[in-house]
Amino acid sequence: APAAGPARRLRPEDVFIAVKTTRRNHGPRLRLLLRTWISRARPQTFIFTDGDDPDLQLQAGSHVVNTNCSAAHTRQALCCKMAVEYDQFIASGRKWFCHVDDDNYVNPEGLMQLLSSFSPSQDVYLGRPSLDHPIEATERGHGGGTVTTVKFWFATGGAGFCLSRGLALKMSPWASLGSFMSTAERVRLPDDCTVGYIVEGLLGARLRHSRLFHSHLEDLRRLPPHTVLRQVTLSYGGPENPRNVVGVAGAFSLQQDPTRFKSVHCLLYPDTDWCPVTSPL
Ligand code: UDP
Ligand code: MN
Repeated sequence: APAAGPARRLRPEDVFIAVKTTRRNHGPRLRLLLRTWISRARPQTFIFTDGDDPDLQLQAGSHVVNTNCSAAHTRQALCCKMAVEYDQFIASGRKWFCHVDDDNYVNPEGLMQLLSSFSPSQDVYLGRPSLDHPIEATERGHGGGTVTTVKFWFATGGAGFCLSRGLALKMSPWASLGSFMSTAERVRLPDDCTVGYIVEGLLGARLRHSRLFHSHLEDLRRLPPHTVLRQVTLSYGGPENPRNVVGVAGAFSLQQDPTRFKSVHCLLYPDTDWCPVTSPL
């Protein structure tokens, strides 16, 4: 055993990855994730959706959660999902909470490696800021009278972010049960900004900016190809911006693999049964 090495190796069951989705994305988006990275991260992954789907239930069992939140793309509906994700993480007793969208690829081993360099009992909030400056929000006082401004960094939800259990527990007065929704209303901000508001604005902790998380707000073509497999999360532009994908070569054409997630997955896990067989030398 190492004499004074880092904390004990992280096990998959120490991590809680919440994937936010919506009923109409089960086919178009989630199916790809289930076939790729989720298949290598079953114990850590929980899917948060808003409608029943017997097919998904069969595939993911107890790891699919119907939040019963509205399926509308409103601040309230999205904050409702984040609140349920948070509560389930707290109840799970796990060490790390990570949130991703259903257009993210997660590199399971990269994520485990990143998290294992921190202690879950410390205040850790890890992710990619969506702006290059802190956001300024108007905070309405409880009595309704006072209005103050707060400045804070937040991690963009579309790139994925993680919270240590230690920090998540401190967030509970503003994040647990119904309170996340009222906190979001107080600053009138979306779910991911509200997390930043609680961490930085209310608790005085700091976002650790990481370049390993990626959303389609960035130009994904600018990621050097030889670094793609080292990233912790990836994304893709989708139908509105089909060219905004990571530049990874592989056995699949852009037509066969428009998101590039299959290509990335086969480079990371070439033994996957549907990956092309690479001929030995
Ligand atoms: N989403 C949701 N409810 C909705 C619309 C979207 O839960 O009504 C989820 C979606 O599944 C995804 C995230 O919100 O995980 C972001 O959605 P999308 O990628 O479509 O939009 P973006 O904000 O990235 O442009
Ligand atoms: Mn998106």
